[in-house]
Amino acid sequence: MTPDKLILLLAIFPLVMLLWMGWQSQRQARFGQLNTRDHVFRCARCESVYTDDEDVDRSGCPKCGMSNEEYEF
Ligand SMILES: [Zn+2]
Repeated sequence: MTPDKLILLLAIFPLVMLLWMGWQSQRQARFGQLNTRDHVFRCARCESVYTDDEDVDRSGCPKCGMSNEEYEF
């Protein structure tokens, strides 16, 4: 291996690492989005389907105000 090839390799290596880390964090962000899915509710009174945060078990219907439990598929 010639010295300038070694220099080229040393210059490319951090660049590849940076790209790899960027790809990893992007993948993690996409995976995180899939994991934090909202709860789905279906109103017992007016049958409208709506979503709310995943940390709530009961949520009021935006149409008629009735409190509904989480809808299981
Ligand atoms: Zn309703």
